[in-house]
Amino acid sequence: STLHPFSYMTPFSSTTERDFQSRNICLTRGEGVWVYDGEGNRFLYATTAVPSVGLGNPFVLDRIRAQYETLNFASTCGQTHPLIEELSRRLIERSGSSFGQVFYSNDGSGAVETAMRLARQYWISKGQTKRIKFISLEGCYHGTTFGSGSVTHLGIQQSFGPGLAECYAAPVPNPYRLPLEGTLQQNINDCLHLLEELIFEVGPNEVAAVLLEPIQGVNGIVPLPPAYLKSIREITEKYGILLIMDEVATGVGRTGNWIYSHELNIQADLLTLSKGLTGGYFPMGATLISATIAEQLFGNGGIFLHGSTQSGHPVGCAAALAVLDYMDENCLISNAEQRGSSLLSTLQSALRDHPYVGDIRGKGLMLAIEFVSDRTTKSPVDFAFGEKLSAALHQEGVLGNWFNGVLILYPPLTLSPGEEAFLCQAVIKSVHSIE
Ligand code: PMP
Repeated sequence: STLHPFSYMTPFSSTTERDFQSRNICLTRGEGVWVYDGEGNRFLYATTAVPSVGLGNPFVLDRIRAQYETLNFASTCGQTHPLIEELSRRLIERSGSSFGQVFYSNDGSGAVETAMRLARQYWISKGQTKRIKFISLEGCYHGTTFGSGSVTHLGIQQSFGPGLAECYAAPVPNPYRLPLEGTLQQNINDCLHLLEELIFEVGPNEVAAVLLEPIQGVNGIVPLPPAYLKSIREITEKYGILLIMDEVATGVGRTGNWIYSHELNIQADLLTLSKGLTGGYFPMGATLISATIAEQLFGNGGIFLHGSTQSGHPVGCAAALAVLDYMDENCLISNAEQRGSSLLSTLQSALRDHPYVGDIRGKGLMLAIEFVSDRTTKSPVDFAFGEKLSAALHQEGVLGNWFNGVLILYPPLTLSPGEEAFLCQAVIKSVHSIE
């Protein structure tokens, strides 16, 4: 029998909504969009959003190899190295001139944790010592650490008691599962109204930051309406609250934009990146800090946030710089946009009328199919359905994610038209195979 390590999904899984999708598959090799198990079975790797430039990419591997041979480690505690400066310059250049600094961590959770600590540090340095609370959105996922877990609202907190950071959840106008009465527009208005009420209850001068995951990834690729997100930016500005945009999943080209904030035209105070940034070649997270916050915290030699011993690792920076160059040279952001919209429209026209398909949605190469047992009541499918669908997908050669009745697909941004057709047909065939 195969031993299965616990994944980070385990804590918020119940016996009926378990993350079972890849339990029996042990991967031994990867190349491009494909991964292989020990028995020679091949799967299109459409999970996690990490391998942005594909697996075993020779361009990236050459650059990493060269970096290992030149300088395989340098701590950024007290020293620096040229790659970190180059990467920070490139990230700021792409993300927007309102950013003034980049802080590195070892994963997405670390990037969120850093943003939360910086937000508090900013207010404390300005004498606003009560601004230490957070507001995030129902259904959001921000990470595994105690801080990032405290601002996650997917039931994960219940398994380890109260969070360390005080955080409150605001309702979201999920376009498919509207939480309130009325139309989507009424839901948007009411959710915004409830957010303002929540800010008043918590205390407008006690909220350090609002955290946003603009498309809720783990929760099933739930796209939050742009008008709602823009209004949140306005509300945070009105009360002087910082906005943390968590683009760990949506960033680095995934949605067909460098960052999804650009499409929304929202300027966050702090922005987090990870996953596709180093594309699976090294674990790394980055937190972009607005010039205003950077100036306040670092400008006059004042307090500064300390990082982990290995954050800003030269090989991580080399991996990120190689990923950026490869993405540019191969126009992968526009490929994500094109492949994503064609995948979405093909899936929609083939599966729209299927009795168990409730919703097909996504942006760029971040797609989802939400399954229901009844399209009118939108009641969820059961555990057995998910198991059957996952087995069918494995049979057809696809690895996706399954969470709460939603099939999530995150293929690499290198997806070719032929690979797109393979993925599409495999998904359609798997869905049709369910009785
Ligand atoms: N934020 C978001 C939006 C994420 O999707 C994730 C990972 N699913 C994280 C934070 C945490 O990142 P990591 O798993 O790399 O710690």
